[in-house]
Amino acid sequence: MPYNSSARSVSCAKPKTGSGNAAVRNKAYNAQTCACGYGTPTPSPEPEPTGPTGSTGCTGCTPEAQCQFPKTADGQWDFAAFWAARLAEGWIYPIAQDNDAPFTDPMQQFNADRPDMGACHDGIDLQTQRTAPSTNVNLCSGDSPIYSIADGTVVYSTTGYYEGTGSVIAVYPDSAGNNIVIRYGEIGFCTATFPPFTVLTVPVTKGSVIGYMMNNGYGTHMLHFEAYFGCDSAGNAIVLDSSTPNYAAGPVNGLTQGGNTTYDYVTPTCGKSTFNRRQDLIDPTEVQQLKNNPAWPAS
Ligand SMILES: [Zn+2]
Repeated sequence: MPYNSSARSVSCAKPKTGSGNAAVRNKAYNAQTCACGYGTPTPSPEPEPTGPTGSTGCTGCTPEAQCQFPKTADGQWDFAAFWAARLAEGWIYPIAQDNDAPFTDPMQQFNADRPDMGACHDGIDLQTQRTAPSTNVNLCSGDSPIYSIADGTVVYSTTGYYEGTGSVIAVYPDSAGNNIVIRYGEIGFCTATFPPFTVLTVPVTKGSVIGYMMNNGYGTHMLHFEAYFGCDSAGNAIVLDSSTPNYAAGPVNGLTQGGNTTYDYVTPTCGKSTFNRRQDLIDPTEVQQLKNNPAWPAS
């Protein structure tokens, strides 16, 4: 679903189901969502409301549920558990199963030391089985589509990401109300759909095409996949508001480089600090768990 700008105004109250006969009340009930924008209506499945006040409440609307990254026994962020939770929520892998290829090169891994960039790799490079076009970043069709991993909102795109490729940034609410940020990098995309260098509010559904693999200039056809938890320095889930687009635009609140006070930045453990990382960067390696979703699409 699109992000909800009121996600932090925690109100679990649901409107009354109103008057009318039971069928009318049930229809009204079933059309309701939690006021917080992400909780689960209760009870679910709902019984037939017994009167004009119906039933109900919501679960999962508490701010305490936000910004609580799963932890390992020794207190470290448990990335495997994080991606397992996304699998449980039905998220899908971004590359079609008949096009997916292993990524085993050390340089394709998270946190790889990139001597050419003076930086550590802040994502993973997912490979395609196919040769992608070496063409302009404005791709509106192609042989290697990249799928939106969940229902969410594209918030930013750029045609100037890396060596002539582009990137698309999307935000996906999880069941706790966090706005998970995904950067699909080194890709081509349809600039008419996602106008570059513009803060966007374009809804995308799970499985819809974000863009396409293209040649990044080094003969490599891949998807650079990068993820953030979407929590600021104070431990609050980000609130996206289209009236004050505050998140994705690199010059304002860059994903991997400092210069603002909204987020903490840390020096990557590989030691290269040309680009410090936002502290809510997620190791995306375990996103491969999403291949276990029976709905993993074929192209
Ligand atoms: Zn990469």
